[in-house]
Amino acid sequence: MGIGDRHQKKDVEAALKRAEAAGLKVTHDKNRHNWGLVLCCPCNDYVRISCTPRNTGDEAKKIDAFIKEHRACA
Ligand SMILES: [Zn+2]
Repeated sequence: MGIGDRHQKKDVEAALKRAEAAGLKVTHDKNRHNWGLVLCCPCNDYVRISCTPRNTGDEAKKIDAFIKEHRACA
């Protein structure tokens, strides 16, 4: 991700960094309601990331759960 692609919530940004470190693809879609996606390319599965999650801890946990599930794929 380049500069300007950071998530405004630190908890979520940290989880996105962990996803990238695990080999998952993080895409930032500026044109939609969602902030973007975390993608697992080998199995085409993904999780949506909200721009304004109600609970940033839960959003981060959701990403971490996805990482745990897919880190073996990448
Ligand atoms: Zn996977």
